[in-house]
Amino acid sequence: MSDQHASSLPPPLHSPLPRVVIIGAGYAGSHAAVAASRSGKVEVVVVDHDGRHGFLARMAGVAAGRLRTSDARAPLRELIGADIEVVHGRVVRIDDEAGTVPLDDATLLHADAVVVSAGSGSPAGSVPGSDRYAATLHTPDDALALRRRLARTDRLVIVGAGATGVQLAAEVAAARPGIEVRLVEIAGRLLPAEPRRLGDDVMTALLQVGVHLHLSTEVARVDRRGVVLGDGRRFDGTVVWAGGWRADATELLPTAPTQDGRAIVTSDLRVSGLRRVLAAGDIAAHRDIIGRLLPMSAQIASQAGATAGHNAAALATGQSTRPARLVELGRIIDLGDRGVGRVGPIPIGWGPTSRLVPLLHLGVDLRHLWQLGGVAVALAHVPTRGGAQATPPMRTPLRAVS
Ligand SMILES: Cc1cc2nc3c(=O)[nH]c(=O)nc-3n(C[C@H](O)[C@H](O)[C@H](O)COP(=O)(O)OP(=O)(O)OC[C@H]3O[C@@H](n4cnc5c(N)ncnc54)[C@H](O)[C@@H]3O)c2cc1C
Repeated sequence: MSDQHASSLPPPLHSPLPRVVIIGAGYAGSHAAVAASRSGKVEVVVVDHDGRHGFLARMAGVAAGRLRTSDARAPLRELIGADIEVVHGRVVRIDDEAGTVPLDDATLLHADAVVVSAGSGSPAGSVPGSDRYAATLHTPDDALALRRRLARTDRLVIVGAGATGVQLAAEVAAARPGIEVRLVEIAGRLLPAEPRRLGDDVMTALLQVGVHLHLSTEVARVDRRGVVLGDGRRFDGTVVWAGGWRADATELLPTAPTQDGRAIVTSDLRVSGLRRVLAAGDIAAHRDIIGRLLPMSAQIASQAGATAGHNAAALATGQSTRPARLVELGRIIDLGDRGVGRVGPIPIGWGPTSRLVPLLHLGVDLRHLWQLGGVAVALAHVPTRGGAQATPPMRTPLRAVS
C-alpha cells in the first residue's frame, strides 16, 4: 500500500484536482491512466493488487521458456508517467453513490470518477479435480509456475483448444522437442470460437510440431496423475486448464447489468445505470462501431482503456465525454517462431507469411508500450529470448484423433 494513501482518504488529499481512480493495471487500466493524466485536469490513482503490468499475450512464450521470465510483467511505474499514483491493494467494491472505492485493507479512496478495468478470471474448477490438480495460464504468476513445472515433466496435457491452449501447445512442442504434448478439446475442431479456416491453419501447424490432438473429447476428471476422459481412458502428465476466461463485473459492481458476466456499458463506456463508473477491457461487454460484441482481447482493452480514461477525466471535471470507436484490427495466434491469423480481412495461413507473425506481434507490443511511455519505455520492454530452443524440429505429421 502506498504511504500516501494508507488510510481513509477524504477528498482531495494531496491535490486540489478532482480524482480519477482506475482499478487494474492491465491493458485497459494502463491506457486509461495515461489518457486521464494527459488531460492535465485530474489526479490519477491506479489501484492494482500486484502493482505490475502483466503482458498476458506473452504468457505461453514465457511458460515454454522462449521468452524470459522478466518478459512476463513490469512494474506499472516503469511504463507510465511519474505523476500517476500507483497503489498496491485489492478493491473489494465500488460505491457509485458515495463516490468511494474501498480496498481490502480498509482503505477508502475517494473518487470523482472510476474506471473499472479488473480483467477476467480463470475458469479452472468446472470439472472435478481441475481446481486442485490443473495448472492454469492466466497471470504472470501462472506462467512462471508453469515454466518451473514444465522443466520437471515429459508429458503435458492441455485441456481446451482456444487461443491459449493452442499457443501453449505449439510453444512447448517447439521449445522442448522431447516432451509429449496432448491437446484435448470437447468441440470437433481447434479454436471453436474463431472462423474455421484459422482453426484448420493451426491444426496444420500443431501436427507439424508433433502435438497430439484429441478433438470431440471430454475431460471428466483431473487427478494427481493426469486427466480421466468421459470414455474412461486417461492421459497422464502435467495438466493445464486453458481458456474459457470469464469476467464477473458484479464482484465489484453488484448492481451492474451484465452480459456473460461482462458489464453492459453505454457508447462512452459508462456502466449502464451508474453515475461515475466506467468499465473497459475484459470486464466490459464492448461493441464495435456497428454494434457487434467484441471478444476479450488486449487490443480492444487498450483502445477502450484510452477512451475510458479520457471520459473519466471529462466526467470528473464536468466536461463532455466522447463515444468509444473500437475496431478489431486483426487476430494473431503466435505459435512459437511462426503464427497464423489475419490482418484486417487478409488471412495469414501456415505458409511462408506465417514467419511474419512474430514481427507483427512485436509491432503490436511496441505500439502498446510506446503509447504508454514513449520510445524509451518501448525499447526497455521489448520481449527477449529465454534461452530455450525456439525453432521447431520438423517431425512426421501425426493424425488428429478424436
Ligand atoms: C494466456 C493469454 C494469452 C493471451 N493472448 C492474447 C493475444 O495474443 N492477443 C490479444 O489481443 N489478447 C490476448 N489475451 C487476452 C488479453 O490478455 C486480455 O484480453 C487483456 O489482458 C484484457 O485486459 P484488461 O486490462 O481488461 O485485463 P488484465 O490485463 O487482465 O488486467 C487486469 C488487472 O486488474 C488487476 N485486478 C483485478 N482485480 C482487481 C481488484 N479487485 N483490485 C485491484 N486490482 C485488480 C489485475 O491484477 C490485473 O493487473 C490473452 C490472454 C491470456 C490469459
